Amino acid sequence: MVSRVIPVDPFDLVIFGGTGDLAQRKILPGLFRRFRAGQMGGDARVIGAARSDMDADAYRDFARKAVMEFEPEAAKDTEHLDSFLQQLDYVTIDARGNAGWSELTGMLRDDEIRAFYFSVAPSLFGDLADRLHKHGLDCPNCRIVVEKPFGRDLQTAKALNATIAEYFDEQQIYRIDHYLGKETVQNLMAIRFGNTLFEPLWNSQYVDHIQITVAEEVGVGGRGDYYDRSGAMRDMMQNHIMQLLCLIAMEPPAKFDPDAVRDEKLKVIRALDPVAPEDAVRGQYEGTGQSGSYRNEVGNRDSTTESFVALRATISNWRWAGTPFYLRTGKRLRERASEIAVVFKDAPHSIFGADAGRHRNILTIKLQPNEGIELGVTIKEPGPGGMRLVDVPLDMTFAEALGPEEADFPDAYERLIMDVIRGNQTLFMRGDEVEAAWAWIDPIIALWEESDRPPLTYATGSSGPDDALMLMHRDGRRWREIRA
Ligand code: NAD
Repeated sequence: MVSRVIPVDPFDLVIFGGTGDLAQRKILPGLFRRFRAGQMGGDARVIGAARSDMDADAYRDFARKAVMEFEPEAAKDTEHLDSFLQQLDYVTIDARGNAGWSELTGMLRDDEIRAFYFSVAPSLFGDLADRLHKHGLDCPNCRIVVEKPFGRDLQTAKALNATIAEYFDEQQIYRIDHYLGKETVQNLMAIRFGNTLFEPLWNSQYVDHIQITVAEEVGVGGRGDYYDRSGAMRDMMQNHIMQLLCLIAMEPPAKFDPDAVRDEKLKVIRALDPVAPEDAVRGQYEGTGQSGSYRNEVGNRDSTTESFVALRATISNWRWAGTPFYLRTGKRLRERASEIAVVFKDAPHSIFGADAGRHRNILTIKLQPNEGIELGVTIKEPGPGGMRLVDVPLDMTFAEALGPEEADFPDAYERLIMDVIRGNQTLFMRGDEVEAAWAWIDPIIALWEESDRPPLTYATGSSGPDDALMLMHRDGRRWREIRA
């Protein structure tokens, strides 16, 4: 199979925060990959805009280093890299002052698509929107891309939505959740809505429960300051995990169009029941041996910020009443492994007798480290030993099924940036979705903040606090092992 790359229209992309960590690790290498693939044409322009004082040549050197470091293929293809870098420009700018704005205005072309990527601290999102307006840059063919976190609670998210809405229509706002740009996450929609096989079973009559795990092996690292003000609930649960939950639980939209999809996701969030206090577990890691504890790493001995959270969520609608969703995420867990597991109910009656054991179909959608989808089916164990049953995976790992070239799909960021240029908002969060997600999350955080009980501790390299295991044991169920 040969991939089809459809070039996007010419564009001017301004990366506010063009010298930051995200620009270096994801945005610039991602753009280079799209350029190399022929999707971003020679008439596209990328303008880095940040506080550092440098000229276009210095920015090209800066971008070269970033691309070489985070896109290993670049070193083998310096011809493409040189051409890509020629399309880069730079302006020193202050999001809170006047410096650089008239220069930026002069660099932009009138008739091309304009995208402004807000890859700066969230405290600057409102300032940037204001400045773009003040300098006449909030034109009809402009789009803005807003990074996470989008607010830290319902109130701040509403305020941010309101500020941005003063100058931009919802159709111009692209709130990034990079999980939605993952190949597998989109494949989840293809599997559900492109096959007749799964959808009839996709409900509480056949699905026992669903587990979503986003486990990280690393600790807070250099992001301690930010993380300690945020925590696992705000950093992962409110956005990435809730978005995954929506895609799993939503009704089939009438068509694959931005508002049709987002309407259905919003209905899921609004049908979520409030979480009971005993259904929310928060934890904080403790070091063992060489590894530090959370409190040491963030330099705050009294911190009660959670580095782990597990929730038991229920959805009150016809499809899901009676099927719990177990959600967990954390740092310094056993391994880096993220997956969604749809665990189907047992067959109503086993004709093979007690010796055959208990078997279940599980559809596993693996998000990282290796993306792929696996369906566990029960078959007869080969051999003459009678009717013994065994579970085997029907593996749909992309590299196996489609060949290595097809499996070399774009990173989430590069796909999402191209969607911005194409004007396709399907994989971006709408303002009302973000607010509804905060409205569900806020009471859980409020309960913790009012409580005088600190988070439970868990050992580095474990599966989280014991209470998280109990969350499922109580229901006669168990978490799947965290394994890459
Ligand atoms: P960073 O601190 O590494 O970079 C910040 C950038 O903003 C720099 O280019 C700096 O020059 C610029 N800047 C700071 N103040 C400015 C001002 N007054 N005017 C103009 N430019 C200014 O930050 P980052 O890690 O790249 O993160 C950027 C955004 O992306 C944040 O909102 C963050 O939450 C989000 N994000 C980052 C990551 C990541 O992996 N780094 C992941 C998800 C989301």
